[in-house]
Amino acid sequence: MIAANNPKLTSWIAVPADSDFPIQNLPFGIIKKGDNTPKAASIIGDQVINLDALHQLGYFSSITLPEGIFNHHTLNGFIALGKSTTNAVRERLSEIFQKDNAELRDNAEGKSSVLTPVGEVDLLMPVHVGDYTDFYSSEQHATNVGTMFRDPDNALLPNWKHIPVGYHGRASSIVVSGTDLRRPKGQTMEPEASKPSFGPTKRLDFELEMAFVTGKVNELGNSITPDEADEYIFGFTLFNDWSARDIQKWEYVPLGPFLAKNFGSSISPWIVTMEALEPFKVAGPVQEPEVLPYLKYTGKSHFDINLEVFIQPEGSTETCVARSNFRHMYWNVRQQLAHHTVNGCNINVGDMYASGTISGPTPDAYGSMLELAWKGTKPLMMPDGTERKFIHDGDEVTMRGYGEKDGVRIGFGEVRTKILPAK
Ligand code: MN
Repeated sequence: MIAANNPKLTSWIAVPADSDFPIQNLPFGIIKKGDNTPKAASIIGDQVINLDALHQLGYFSSITLPEGIFNHHTLNGFIALGKSTTNAVRERLSEIFQKDNAELRDNAEGKSSVLTPVGEVDLLMPVHVGDYTDFYSSEQHATNVGTMFRDPDNALLPNWKHIPVGYHGRASSIVVSGTDLRRPKGQTMEPEASKPSFGPTKRLDFELEMAFVTGKVNELGNSITPDEADEYIFGFTLFNDWSARDIQKWEYVPLGPFLAKNFGSSISPWIVTMEALEPFKVAGPVQEPEVLPYLKYTGKSHFDINLEVFIQPEGSTETCVARSNFRHMYWNVRQQLAHHTVNGCNINVGDMYASGTISGPTPDAYGSMLELAWKGTKPLMMPDGTERKFIHDGDEVTMRGYGEKDGVRIGFGEVRTKILPAK
């Protein structure tokens, strides 16, 4: 077992019972406090941990770390040091904050420079994302979409169970939780119309997804096997792949999503490490037909992470509209990375790969409004009495996720986005 994952560990920092951030989590993010420059950070309970301050105070002297490595506005440089270093930092944090460790606990001056209540800092984009890929790996989601738009009897296209289908998305418009997004405008073709029209999307949707961030480079021309993939995957965030369904429907043939997707994607601010998620690994579905050898993997490669989506209409309260789980994936992240690189495509530190909409087996577990309201035929009721077929201006959409095992809850916090009217 990874020492920092020991469920028996407790911290001298108070951790509320429903917190996503016990001492066993120790995710990485970027904080900004007032006028200070951004710093790399972690979090326990409601206290963010300034890693740059800890480094300056000498608390990482047992680990070889470049000077100022945490004094940056992204984690890319830190992550690029490799897992032997990043895991050593996580293990060291676990030591420093354990209940009976007095090193920092009894150092009042040190504590005041290291710890800040999370409510007093801004949580920034944790990494610079150079490239972003979105997969389409939930069988229920692909089946639902195929049923609605093509043929219920042949909902999955012939390639779907042989290839982890994906497309290259837009990295520049990936934004962190708390960033408002404008309703996008675009070209659509109304049913029965003879020519396309232009205007704000009438079918703005969310997609409930998880994303992984790579932390190791493979040279152009080299591929990564599923069993090597864990070495390359640094960690995970929640991911909302915003989608404009009417724009998507008109533009996606034959090359796939474009302006229906690239106006914004939202992520949660903390990157939860692959190592912290180790206890939540579970077996995936039996893959039938058998996959090609380069997609075969050994061991548990799916994750038992509860996922929830909430909508909060302007001036009202939030209501849960979907409960799904990351384990409802057909293709796992190891297979996705193996497929992505099997042709020799190189990957970089900070690149992001989203799972595709994660829909569970029941209608309350679907990961998009398109599916939840079934193309607008089954509107959802909001607490203020209004109906939702798609997302309205002023709505706030929040996704949360956590795994729970042996009394330890490892969570992601949230990704929250408000939709503003079209410009
Ligand atoms: Mn998507």
